[in-house]
Amino acid sequence: MSASNSAEASSALLESLRQRIQRDGPIAIDQYMTTCVADPQHGYWSKAGAIGAAGDFITAPEISQVFGELIGLWCAVAWHSLGQPSPVRLVELGPGRGTLMQDALRAARAVPGFVDAASLHLVEISAPLRVLQKSALAGHVVTWHDVLDSVPTGPAIIIANEFLDALPIRQLILSSDGVWRERMVGLGADGQLCFVAGSPVHHDAGIVAHPGAIVELRPGEDRLLAALSARQPPVIALFVDYGPADPALGDTLQAVRRHAYVDPLAEPGSADLTAHVQLAGFAQKAREAGLAAAGPMTQAEFLGRLGVAERAARLMAANPDRAGEIEAGVQRLMAPTGMGQLFKVMAVHSPGLPPLPPFS
Ligand code: SAH
Repeated sequence: MSASNSAEASSALLESLRQRIQRDGPIAIDQYMTTCVADPQHGYWSKAGAIGAAGDFITAPEISQVFGELIGLWCAVAWHSLGQPSPVRLVELGPGRGTLMQDALRAARAVPGFVDAASLHLVEISAPLRVLQKSALAGHVVTWHDVLDSVPTGPAIIIANEFLDALPIRQLILSSDGVWRERMVGLGADGQLCFVAGSPVHHDAGIVAHPGAIVELRPGEDRLLAALSARQPPVIALFVDYGPADPALGDTLQAVRRHAYVDPLAEPGSADLTAHVQLAGFAQKAREAGLAAAGPMTQAEFLGRLGVAERAARLMAANPDRAGEIEAGVQRLMAPTGMGQLFKVMAVHSPGLPPLPPFS
């Protein structure tokens, strides 16, 4: 989509949001996010160029091939721990440009039998991204799905990098009278979108909160965990995402365009909208849903334990002309000031499976 088309789409979406709020009143933040990203005509995911250096934001697999390669080898190890079932469903949630899966499959070829046993399933909402995934995975048989629930039964290994952060959040805000209220998007006197406090909501934050505190809830996580626990075992799912390890309060809704933060209410549909993932909370909910959880650990620790240094050294030795670029990419994935610390990795799996490296 060109810049001018994108601006047109954004103002069309803004106008329809205004009309909707005028007619029905303020909308909850998850509804706002859903409209901004998933509106079939003007939503953010209806355009293809979002991910990558030339797009709005960059992700680990787009920074270094080593990321997808190590995850591919991790999947092969997970397959061994399941007793090498054939077929095994190899599922990716929100595969972006298909780069992670492409790198994963190339590296996993080193483990005899795994890639041949794998049937590939991609859960993807964006039509233009499906097209990119198809060309990245040319030569493989791939099935696309709107939701995890439609992936056929059978042993499954699921990977998801920066998928949870894209699932819409609700926000509750604590009023001065001690009541939690739904934080919503309404219209200001100037006709612009603004945040407003809506109806009271019963909520037990579990941590001390003061007036003005904001708590974030992500209903899509619950639906995903329900789908995972409804699957016939065994299933192993790996989640990589950004956010705090421990429960935290605060507004983390962010909009990113051209690698810079922008106002999430300005130009709806034209920026990537995400929010922190509370990994420990996700692990807790997984256990409540009858699943087992391992981690979270930081991305640096996870990749370090999987042998990122050795893999990068081998790649650099084989490609001396690209050594600097390879080293810089890996550095970015690992650095505490880069993605190494903020990004966390955790596994959710059927109960009763052997402990999973590198968490064990
Ligand atoms: N994993 C990729 C892309 C991350 S961006 C990478 O690391 O580069 C988020 C991805 O999730 C995109 O592919 C987006 O289209 C997809 N997505 C977002 N919400 C989704 C939903 N509700 N269902 C399926 N896919 C979704």
